[in-house]
Amino acid sequence: MINLSSDTSTQPSPEMLKVMAKAEVGDEQVKQDPTVLRLCETVADLLGKEDAIFLPTGTMCNLISFLVHCRPGDEIIAAKNAHIYRSEGVGASALAGACFAPIDTPSGIFDTQAVLSHIRAARPGKSPRSRVIAIEQTTNFGGGDVWQPSQLAHIGKVAAENRMKVHMDGARLLNAVVYSGLPAHAHTLVCDSSWLDLSKGLGCPFGAVLAGSKDFIEEAWEWKFRLGGAMRQAGYMAAGGLYALEHNFDRLHEDHNHARQLYDGIANIPGINVATMPPKTNILIFNVDNAHQFQQLLLKEGVKVGVAATNKIRMVTHLNFTSQQIAPVLQAIQKIMQHN
Ligand SMILES: *Cc1c(COP(=O)(O)O)cnc(C)c1O
Repeated sequence: MINLSSDTSTQPSPEMLKVMAKAEVGDEQVKQDPTVLRLCETVADLLGKEDAIFLPTGTMCNLISFLVHCRPGDEIIAAKNAHIYRSEGVGASALAGACFAPIDTPSGIFDTQAVLSHIRAARPGKSPRSRVIAIEQTTNFGGGDVWQPSQLAHIGKVAAENRMKVHMDGARLLNAVVYSGLPAHAHTLVCDSSWLDLSKGLGCPFGAVLAGSKDFIEEAWEWKFRLGGAMRQAGYMAAGGLYALEHNFDRLHEDHNHARQLYDGIANIPGINVATMPPKTNILIFNVDNAHQFQQLLLKEGVKVGVAATNKIRMVTHLNFTSQQIAPVLQAIQKIMQHN
């Protein structure tokens, strides 16, 4: 089976597991797990923030950020296809009491004009308070598109002028870093909260790290406890993250090359409508008539893909997808297009 359904499908390598098994650990809840502390320091440095907190999932990073930033009734401005809006049970609303002002943007990228048109005039007690601008780097259901740091600077300016916070869902921030060639801290400069996922392209089985100011992280710790995210010997988990940052970060460009090669091949198959722009990172989305049917047919050919919408297939390249697997995937698609 060739698995292109998600970059979460990777299995930890034997080397990663060895490092995890040998981790030096302590009680994470009382900040005495040396490996967790080392991972948090590493990510805080990487993202140019004062402090960081280790959490089991990226979903919890998003949720805790909104719990800290928002009062019930506050509004979050985000892309309509943002993961926080369509794929996390709207935890921001269900648990933080915030509502959304979604921006319709297929790529997941939006400009300051779109933000300004979604910011409410201050009418305390009547309109929700516009509180957070949420950025997704890279844009998952937007096809792995990348926010340029210059675009982020404009967003940061609008946020500051309107006393709003900027949050970055950085599930694939490091893919953006590799694509742009600019350091991670250049991407997170305007962000009050930002995080990266260890379980996506980095190939860990779990874990995410949320970064921000000292004050922000202090409040995040309260929510980590309340939500049951404060752990014990979590250093075994964190060790995988440290290993991945060292070994699986720079290689992300291989995943991007593979996505580009898949795009080039698929664009040449008659009947398939690929986007006009090739993918920038590791996510490739293309149109078919019936995505669920197409997914089932591909599965029969031994290729697992995702459905991004009723007419959109999503493929995500990753650590366990090799260049040798490109030709069989293209052959499978070709076969389906010929017979259906
Ligand atoms: C995967 C993902 C998340 C959630 O991360 P988990 O670690 O799976 O909870 C959030 N945002 C985006 C864009 C993602 O792709």
